[in-house]
Amino acid sequence: MPQKKKWDVIVLGGGVSGCMAAFAAAKQGATTLLVEQYGFLGGSLTNAGVGPMMTFHAGKRQVVTGLPQELIERLCAKQGSTGHIEDTTGYASSVTPFDAEVLKLVLDEMAQDCGVDVLYHTTLVGVRKQANNIQTITLQTKSGLLELEGTVFVDASGDGALSFTAGADVRQGRDADGLCQPMTTNMKVSGVDIETLKAEIRNNQENFNLRDLSSMDRAPGFRWQVFTGSLTKQRPKVCCTRSARMFCCSKR
Ligand SMILES: Cc1cc2nc3c(=O)[nH]c(=O)nc-3n(C[C@H](O)[C@H](O)[C@H](O)COP(=O)(O)OP(=O)(O)OC[C@H]3O[C@@H](n4cnc5c(N)ncnc54)[C@H](O)[C@@H]3O)c2cc1C
Repeated sequence: MPQKKKWDVIVLGGGVSGCMAAFAAAKQGATTLLVEQYGFLGGSLTNAGVGPMMTFHAGKRQVVTGLPQELIERLCAKQGSTGHIEDTTGYASSVTPFDAEVLKLVLDEMAQDCGVDVLYHTTLVGVRKQANNIQTITLQTKSGLLELEGTVFVDASGDGALSFTAGADVRQGRDADGLCQPMTTNMKVSGVDIETLKAEIRNNQENFNLRDLSSMDRAPGFRWQVFTGSLTKQRPKVCCTRSARMFCCSKR
């Protein structure tokens, strides 16, 4: 439990957005608290199988740098990412595969290095406002309720939890009917013989939607390759699901 009752910045939500906001604030010298309902950071990237990260690039130009790039460099140093690689499907300018468990660890390390205090297993239960400004938030922690004062609050809950609780106008989904993006079917497969898989793709191109087969070979030495497969048949040695995104990790 934090001893402090007042913070310069309180960030609700420890996904990648909340982490970057908290790290940046702390690096500027602000006392910063990051509040997360689960027991680890990373949000959808570590709790829901979302990935690879996309994208750091607009065409060939890298447009996302700074702390997110530092995160990738730290991941690479721990063999938790290949870094930015070409998207073999042509969907994004680049993709950045990562190992979710290493991501949890690296985000923890960055929080510590930046001087961010993190409160895990903690959810928002209330807000106290004066005029239109949030003065305090009340949190449910494992040790009971906690009311904390902040100068600046950042809602990085992914679904506007703080804004909604504070009475802000919120909307959900697309304008026409409020529907949200449907879930992606994601799976991770390890122990894959990448060369066999590549041969399968080359020999049965009609089963895959890679736009450019040569892109498979343009990232030599990477442990992982990313494919978006749209397989119609199951074949020996290649595990597949129709319209699934497949992450293949070769044997370490
Ligand atoms: C179906 C789908 C597929 C996607 N695929 C990709 C992809 O392949 N690649 C990609 O880069 N992006 C993808 N995205 C987008 C990506 O998921 C988001 O851009 C990213 O997760 C946003 O990060 P965030 O930190 O803002 O929110 P989140 O990742 O949602 O993090 C929010 C955090 O806040 C915490 N939280 C929420 N409410 C509370 C509360 N009341 N109290 C305390 N903590 C709380 C949550 O536990 C979570 O840790 C996809 C999104 C969807 C919906």
